[in-house]
Amino acid sequence: AKVNGRNQFKYWDAQLNDQFHRRILIEKHLKKAIENNEFTLYYQPQINQLTSKIIGLESLIRWENPELGFVMPGEFIPIAEESDLIIDIGNWVLREACHFNKQLQLDGVPPLRIAVNLSTKQFLDPALKDNIKMILEESQLDPQYLELEITESMTIEVEISIRTLRSLKKLGLSIAMDDFGTGYSSLSNLKEFPIDILKIDQSFVNGMTSSLVNSSIVKTIIAMSKSLDLDVIAEGVEDKETLKMLNEYGCSIVQGYYFSRPIAANKVREAYYEIMSK
Ligand code: C2E
Ligand code: CA
Ligand code: CA
Ligand code: CA
Repeated sequence: AKVNGRNQFKYWDAQLNDQFHRRILIEKHLKKAIENNEFTLYYQPQINQLTSKIIGLESLIRWENPELGFVMPGEFIPIAEESDLIIDIGNWVLREACHFNKQLQLDGVPPLRIAVNLSTKQFLDPALKDNIKMILEESQLDPQYLELEITESMTIEVEISIRTLRSLKKLGLSIAMDDFGTGYSSLSNLKEFPIDILKIDQSFVNGMTSSLVNSSIVKTIIAMSKSLDLDVIAEGVEDKETLKMLNEYGCSIVQGYYFSRPIAANKVREAYYEIMSK
């Protein structure tokens, strides 16, 4: 059919209008989401493929709103980032993850590290360290079981980032550089950052068995992490071939659908014992 310029315009107009509307709605409902108990944390296991043991969990926020249904973090986190809502949400996540982790330990599950994603605003917030300190104290969690995930794009101000990271690390927690390979960071900057772990971005891991470029990038990042004396995690591992390839390259810690999707808190205990038998 012939494209009608005017209808085309109307179509785009309507679509923009819809997007705008959804944004407004999300913003409106986000403001009440904490007090209405609409957030939950899911946890995705991080596994040592050599022992099949869960060594850690990454916490991932989930939001269910009565009017909007499930909204994924990829959609609402950027909207929350544009207001100060992200600070409250971020503190909620930290508190929830630390209390949950402490409870797991009290329940007799061998101690695991739980990783929490930070947002840019949170990372730049001067109150972050005190907030974390307070949450660690109130949850009684040993700080070595808390890990913070940052991304390269948060660390553009190199000097400030190094100072922030150093001060956070004084609390006794660990730091992971998430989505590694998608940002800009130069090797020399990376060397200066007091981080503990590189997480290879899933876009490289996902395609590594079919793309030579991706597998080379993964190989290089693994080698780089070795020479910088950092641990390395591959995320987005969905199949056995990828797992095998990562093992050959020397990366034993993996995260992805192959072992487990993110799971609800009440499923973590059984997952801990189940994955070991895979
Ligand atoms: P991320 O930190 O890179 O988290 C990994 C995302 O990949 C998660 O999506 C996870 O469910 C998904 N994933 C894990 N394994 C696989 C796999 O094998 N294949 C594929 N295709 N995907 C996999 P999710 O939960 O939708 O989160 C999306 C993003 O939202 C996160 O990316 C993170 O940037 C942000 N996010 C999630 N939770 C939080 C939070 O509590 N605070 C902040 N600031 N951001 C969060
Ligand atoms: Ca992450
Ligand atoms: Ca990631
Ligand atoms: Ca990501």
